Amino acid sequence: MDFNLSAGMFDSELNFNPLVSDKTYDVMILGGGPAGLTAAVYCIRKGVSTGLIVKEIGGQVALTAGVENYMGYRYINGVELVQKFKEQVFQFGIDYDEGTAVQSIDAGDIKKVHFEDGRVFSAKALIIATGKSWRKLGVPGEEEFRGRGVAYCSTCDAPFFSGKNVVVVGGGNSGVEAAIDLARVAEGVTMVQFLEKLTGDTILIDKLSAFKNVRVIYESEVTSIDGRDSVESVSVKNRKTGVVDQIAAQGIFVEIGLIPNSGIVKGLLQLNQAGEIMVDCSCRTSVPGIFAAGDVTDVPFKQIIVAGGEGAKAALTACNYVLNR
Ligand SMILES: Cc1cc2nc3c(=O)[nH]c(=O)nc-3n(C[C@H](O)[C@H](O)[C@H](O)COP(=O)(O)OP(=O)(O)OC[C@H]3O[C@@H](n4cnc5c(N)ncnc54)[C@H](O)[C@@H]3O)c2cc1C
Repeated sequence: MDFNLSAGMFDSELNFNPLVSDKTYDVMILGGGPAGLTAAVYCIRKGVSTGLIVKEIGGQVALTAGVENYMGYRYINGVELVQKFKEQVFQFGIDYDEGTAVQSIDAGDIKKVHFEDGRVFSAKALIIATGKSWRKLGVPGEEEFRGRGVAYCSTCDAPFFSGKNVVVVGGGNSGVEAAIDLARVAEGVTMVQFLEKLTGDTILIDKLSAFKNVRVIYESEVTSIDGRDSVESVSVKNRKTGVVDQIAAQGIFVEIGLIPNSGIVKGLLQLNQAGEIMVDCSCRTSVPGIFAAGDVTDVPFKQIIVAGGEGAKAALTACNYVLNR
């Protein structure tokens, strides 16, 4: 086993095997966030043969600084919670693949899952739990300077901007949380908010207001990110006056929300306008034998506990489907 899963857990305690390509699994789960990992626990405990495919273990939880609303823990940091989830799944034993993304799915009676690297795996039922990813700005310089000043995860990258000036784009919860993370280490933080006020939770905005090195520019949008080898300035246009200002900054954090990772099932499953997979209250999608759970679905309230609960429901429905075929 050469998987890198062992932080805090001995290899001998990790009970998993590589996925087998000439086997038809009962249930194949796509995604290793709270929805996918909870689904895995439920499927294995039901005794169905289960495969788990994960691009990055933990999903959004791995990017979360601290969690105070997941039952059983008054406070736990994201990385630690992911570790707990992993230990829970791997105590049972599962066929597992980490690090490669699923590229497409064929939906016959037996479903085929195609990997980016050309491998193909089969299952009677699928659970799609691929969650969400950061939304991009789509302005000049964003791709060019990605990793050279353009960042999306303050939990991961804030320490690199110690003593520097940074821009945070977005005034919702993600933006305010990022500004707080950055205000602790950066020289100055400029928030660029599209609307006329911040829309994050009051408790977060109150926390933010304690920092003297944060300013907010309202009703404005970023039009380009500029520099030579790395980010040196950000152009910001006032939406009312049209005036463009250049803000000197060595970093820019794009915190304008998340989009569902549903591209792999576009044209196959029914999606809503936001691109989320539409499910019924038992996590069935528009195609028999394909179930979905968590943030990638149209179920409201994107939270760890909700995703976990939906993962459990999807697993139980998928197991019933397989056992009654
Ligand atoms: C900064 C931040 C802070 C948050 N704080 C909280 C909080 O305090 N409390 C709370 O309850 N919620 C919080 N949330 C929300 C919570 O993390 C999400 O609701 C939850 O993680 C959703 O779980 P999920 O399993 O549906 O998806 P995700 O966590 O997004 O996991 C998706 C999984 O699918 C994998 N994947 C994606 N595409 C593919 C593919 N093509 N092939 C294979 N695998 C794929 C990913 O690698 C990942 O493993 C926060 C989110 C963020 C971003």
